[in-house]
Amino acid sequence: MKAKKKTVVKAQKRPKKMVALKRVKKSTSRGKTVDKKKVQKKYIYYFLPGKVNGNAKMKILLGGKGANLAEMARLGIPVPPGFTITTEVCKYFFETNGKYPAGLADEVQKAMEMVGNVVGRKFADPENPLLVSVRSGAPASMPGMMDTILNLGLNDEIVEGLIKATNDARFAYDAYRRFVMMYSDVVIDQVTGEGLKKKKYGLREEFERLFEEKKIQNGWKYDYEVPADILKELVHSFKAIVLEKTKAPFPENPWDQLWGAIGAVFKSWNNPRAIEYRRINKIPADWGTAANIQAMVFGNMGNDCATGVAFTRNPATGSPEFYGEWLPNAQGEDVVAGIRTPEKLDRQSGGEKSLEAVFPEIYKELLNIRNKLEKHFRDMQDIEFTIEKGKLWMLQTRAGKRTAFAALRIAVDMVREKLITKEEALMRIQPGELNQLLRPIFDPADKKKAIESGRLLAKGLPAGPGAASGKIVLEAERAIEAAKSGPVILVRSETSPEDIHGMRVACGILTQKGGMTSHAALVSRQMGKVCIVGCEEINVDEESRSITIKGKVFHEGDTLSIDGSTGEVIEGHIKTIPSEILQVIESKTLEPENAPTYQIFQQFMKWADSVRRLGVRANADTPQQARLAVSFGAEGIGLCRTEHMFFGEGKIDAMRRMIIAPDSESRKKALEVILPYQKEDFTGIFKEMNGRAVTIRTLDPPLHEFLPHEKEEIEKLAGIMGIDAEILKAKVEELKEFNPMLGHRGCRLGISYPEITYMQATAIFEAAIECYKEGIKVKPEIMIPLVGDVKELELQKEVVRKAAEEVFSRTGIKIKYAVGTMIEIPRAAITADAIAKEAEFFSFGTNDLTQTVMGISRDDSGTFLNKYLEEGVFKNDPFEVLDTVGVGEIIKIAVQKGRKTRPDLKVGICGEHGGEPSSIRFCHEAGLDYVSCSPYRIPIARLAAAQSVLVSKAKK
Ligand code: ADP
Ligand code: MG
Ligand code: MG
Repeated sequence: MKAKKKTVVKAQKRPKKMVALKRVKKSTSRGKTVDKKKVQKKYIYYFLPGKVNGNAKMKILLGGKGANLAEMARLGIPVPPGFTITTEVCKYFFETNGKYPAGLADEVQKAMEMVGNVVGRKFADPENPLLVSVRSGAPASMPGMMDTILNLGLNDEIVEGLIKATNDARFAYDAYRRFVMMYSDVVIDQVTGEGLKKKKYGLREEFERLFEEKKIQNGWKYDYEVPADILKELVHSFKAIVLEKTKAPFPENPWDQLWGAIGAVFKSWNNPRAIEYRRINKIPADWGTAANIQAMVFGNMGNDCATGVAFTRNPATGSPEFYGEWLPNAQGEDVVAGIRTPEKLDRQSGGEKSLEAVFPEIYKELLNIRNKLEKHFRDMQDIEFTIEKGKLWMLQTRAGKRTAFAALRIAVDMVREKLITKEEALMRIQPGELNQLLRPIFDPADKKKAIESGRLLAKGLPAGPGAASGKIVLEAERAIEAAKSGPVILVRSETSPEDIHGMRVACGILTQKGGMTSHAALVSRQMGKVCIVGCEEINVDEESRSITIKGKVFHEGDTLSIDGSTGEVIEGHIKTIPSEILQVIESKTLEPENAPTYQIFQQFMKWADSVRRLGVRANADTPQQARLAVSFGAEGIGLCRTEHMFFGEGKIDAMRRMIIAPDSESRKKALEVILPYQKEDFTGIFKEMNGRAVTIRTLDPPLHEFLPHEKEEIEKLAGIMGIDAEILKAKVEELKEFNPMLGHRGCRLGISYPEITYMQATAIFEAAIECYKEGIKVKPEIMIPLVGDVKELELQKEVVRKAAEEVFSRTGIKIKYAVGTMIEIPRAAITADAIAKEAEFFSFGTNDLTQTVMGISRDDSGTFLNKYLEEGVFKNDPFEVLDTVGVGEIIKIAVQKGRKTRPDLKVGICGEHGGEPSSIRFCHEAGLDYVSCSPYRIPIARLAAAQSVLVSKAKK
């Protein structure tokens, strides 16, 4: 058969366990192809009035949708009756290449009868037919990634029964049209492996085209204007196309339809876009999906019907308003797909077209359900509902996706409302999300200018806050290309799951259709993208790759600016400025009282501080950075690199003289010039830190980094310094190394040229004493880098001690100080017991430690790292996420050996990993005293440290 290629997918990398979940080539009908293997399990869970045997805790078995439908039914909330086929059956289905466990077919048949009894109808009965939806539902929510089929159970005969039962031919044929369309798309025209949306026959597109043609021919704008006879005609055309293209008739038997849909729902677990979504969101591939079969309720039976979606709080800002959208006379996915722009729920925001105005009683009931759900689930919910002939039905509830802003606000509000504890609140934010709060906004002055000069083009719905300026691109694949050379705004009439690739690379997303609950809005919020949806004034013309807004044409590559907090679309580029929180913290241009987001942030961070055990310090080299670090909540400086202090006017010349000095005496002279500058830097930092710990590392990089390398530059410098260019050239040549990373650097410099360390220590002590005189307490911690043997530390410590004694006796003031070392060479870790005799503290320099333990040069790893990640040699980039297995083991050894010698040894980490959440968790568990990271990552570190405590507690 030709169908061989149909569902074969390019080999996907999946964990071993998944091998069994391979693709199924042939669908079975009626679940009759059973396997002999007896499995003693319950395959079906009900949510029927008086018979509910699932609950919200059973997400792994029933999927999120099924588990929560059961939970709602338990709570007495009106849910159309139905049942869930478990994820176990899905796994079985994949393991057996498309078979169902024995007994399932009978169980399904029984369950269908029970559902029919509840609603007083019968599946496949032409007199009084029951229609159902077959809905996918995975353990973790994957919005829109998998398939659902509505109105299942119709054929040419049954549709007549439906007309009789409802007395509404237009409705019946509309349901039939939708069903044939969905079924053809999802079951008959399975997604193939090439590309994310390649279908074999393109049935959906063709049907949609036919439907639109009919509408245009007759001047109908909305779906509901299309009359019954035309819908009937369309259904027949659709079916004829199916027969012609697939050489098989559209299934007429409702039971065949049902099993076809169940199989398709299961298979949708492995459609390429679901696989992609799982990869991005790190959802296990071996969970499988459940299939929910549920009696249909109809929102498209007339004007006393409607459908809607809502968030129990605003998912963009977190404000506790009931935030939703609805459409009269429509079916479920109409709202989400953005076919018509929906109306608001409450009168205040939606006026006379709001649900509150049109259906006041139902609005009240919905409001009650909202409160009930929030109280019960103790989290913001994303809900689906349908109104059928004036009766409200709930179709779904799940924890709603939200922006980082919203997540923070909701967590803090819910603690204040006593819905959750502060520990729970802390666990609800991913530390990395806090970065979103620091994202820039538009410079109000520049934006005002743009608007005043008439550059405001349109206004849509603000779905993802933040500011984005970039070149517009109209298609996901091209966005990926364009994003390589600058910021890109993806403009679509509406997005669909196939676009997630392009959405990921875009800095902003703009759609013409859809509401706050559309796919674009949902996904953008989750990805933390700036997003505007439902911007009706835009006209997207994919063919000419241009958009028209109010008569103005913009081509791909033209620049637009979008404000995801207000919904404004503006022509051209607009300057951006720091976020509200940064305006308070970084530039102090905003008073905390006037910054509500900042206040919520502060409250949250205070809770984190009250829970965490790890100290949080910053890597900061200048007084400005030190100040920023303190504003972000740093409790000290964990790494102050001194090499930056040698650059800059006046200093670099002296440094270079020092480097080329032929002897110790002239070296000292050059260093004397540098000393006051260093001292000034240290004084500035000590003052900013105002008594907090400051760890200063002595000179670390190889000296050649301070010299020029080009011939002309060398000659120019020689001229300035008044020396022979040849001598300078020779010096540069002499300093060249085959492998500078392992060369003459770190404490090796200080040992070769003790006067450098001596000068640095002198500057530190003089600065400390100067501050002391001004009443600022300072306890400097001097850190010797790249030590591999205790003797190296001994030698450097001796130099530091000499400098201290000299300064103390000269000034008559003594201050406390500590000398410790960085652990960044495996030998230092292994001999940590000896090193701890000299070192008063350890700080793990995990950048170098990772390089030296793994034997990989970070700067050269780019050539093979991607391949290693693809092949699964590495789970993560080891320079980003600490390799806890290898490097981590060395760290543990060092901590243990070091503390054996010196039980009160203070231990920290100052590598890049000090700001990475999972590495921080490791540091917590390994018993480190503090982590140190860049100032901007301090909030992340504070939260990650708090979560480490909570997670360890939960484990016990
Ligand atoms: P998704 O997971 O993509 O949201 P759903 O299974 O929730 O897919 O279904 C898609 C749409 O169909 C939703 O709007 C949902 O409310 C609606 N729907 C699903 N089942 C029914 C039903 N039995 N009656 C009415 N509408 C339904
Ligand atoms: Mg849904
Ligand atoms: Mg280092």
